[in-house]
Amino acid sequence: MMIDTHCHLCKEDYENVEFIVNNMGHNKMIAAGVNDTTNQEVLELIKEYPTVYGAIGIHPTEVGISSQSSLEWIEDNLKEDKIVAIGEIGLDYHYGIEEKEKQMQFFKKQLDLAKKYNKPVVIHSRDAIEDTYNIMKEYRGIKMVLHCYSGSVEMAKRFLELDVYFGVGGVLTFKNSRVLKDVVSFLPLDHILLETDSPYLAPEPFRGSKNEPKNVLLVAEALALIKGISAEEVIDITTKNAFSRFDLNKSL
Ligand SMILES: [Zn+2]
Repeated sequence: MMIDTHCHLCKEDYENVEFIVNNMGHNKMIAAGVNDTTNQEVLELIKEYPTVYGAIGIHPTEVGISSQSSLEWIEDNLKEDKIVAIGEIGLDYHYGIEEKEKQMQFFKKQLDLAKKYNKPVVIHSRDAIEDTYNIMKEYRGIKMVLHCYSGSVEMAKRFLELDVYFGVGGVLTFKNSRVLKDVVSFLPLDHILLETDSPYLAPEPFRGSKNEPKNVLLVAEALALIKGISAEEVIDITTKNAFSRFDLNKSL
């Protein structure tokens, strides 16, 4: 069984979410919310589809349209059976640092929730790796996942010391992903999770088109090539990793 540990299945992106979920067969996926609207959608998805688990959180680029009540809603709904993590949360300075303080505030408040309720977190970090690391260091002990990791091997070493798991997706199949390939060669397989970040970052040969969770198989194959093992072994190990990091047994 494969698990796409990070995808977005918003109504805005897919005309027929049911079709996309069914394409995964008996495999599982974790749908992540990013704001009030999509968090609510995640809640509906996990109730409707047995193979879909959920993560709810306020994404750094969504803090402008979010408020204290967004965080209260998240806290209230963490008790839902198939909500397995807080995410997607983190820091993103790609479009500027005007909201830096608010991003940090939301990031920390959601990490506080993770600590309080013993939940894993799924972290997004873009153009903000140093700040992300410094905050994560303060929360050592929480089960953390860095999704779509795009940092250096050196940074990966530092995150590994915090027992962070790394979400690896379609970028691994891109020709120009030298750094990520180096990172993945370095990382121990027991700290890697497969993901797609659908609808974004479709792997080759679908690069540029709309991604979907079933393409996680292509990520597994790319990872297998780098690690010199079979795709089956990659799937087996990374599925075990996902079960342990997200306590999925509790939700089955
Ligand atoms: Zn995402």
